[in-house]
Amino acid sequence: MNKPLVLVVEDDLPVRNLMTTTLKTRDYRYLTAKNGAEALLLASSHNPEAVFLDLGLPDMDGVDVIRNIRSWSNMPIIVISARSEDSDKIQALDAGADDYLTKPFSVEELLARLRVTMRRLTLMNGVGAETAIYENGTLKIDYSAGCAYLRGEELKLTPMEYKLLCLLARNTGKVLTHTYITQHIWGRSWENDVASLRVFMVGLRKKLEAGPDSPQYIQTHIGIGYRMLRVE
Ligand code: CA
Repeated sequence: MNKPLVLVVEDDLPVRNLMTTTLKTRDYRYLTAKNGAEALLLASSHNPEAVFLDLGLPDMDGVDVIRNIRSWSNMPIIVISARSEDSDKIQALDAGADDYLTKPFSVEELLARLRVTMRRLTLMNGVGAETAIYENGTLKIDYSAGCAYLRGEELKLTPMEYKLLCLLARNTGKVLTHTYITQHIWGRSWENDVASLRVFMVGLRKKLEAGPDSPQYIQTHIGIGYRMLRVE
């Protein structure tokens, strides 16, 4: 099997070198782009397995690179940005990024995120990706029956909790913003919808997670959203 190809989009040479060295030592292949135009050209001509994307590029906003790629591909995009404001992360995630890291980042963290997003791609492309059964750790969702089980026991979920669980499960590995979730659940996103979402999330977690302080399935991204993790 070919080594996975990662497109590194970064105008800052030392950061770019750090990423490519890391990839090389871990047996990934890589391509590099110094700006948005190069990134789009390489993404479309080489169809990489994943993209590391800096948001502050010299010729265009990284968010526009995400929008462009998403118009024709669902390749995993991990945003690596110096911007620490939540609004930038939210904008990137809503444009279709899978995950984000804020500079300075650790190389191990970067590799871990890469593995998570690549696994999501394998699941999406794998045989049975559209099957009616979802399994993750001891969580099982039977979409056709509209039931969810944990350790073989049926979870007594409200319709809203079930809807929320399915949305997160279908996007396992991807950070979903509050806006994304509320739009998919209620078809709109108002301030009080985000507050309601928190309430439903508390209810869902009480039934799904072993303890309130040790969430295994649903990860909170404070001020941003939630992500369903893949549990081994
Ligand atoms: Ca930059």
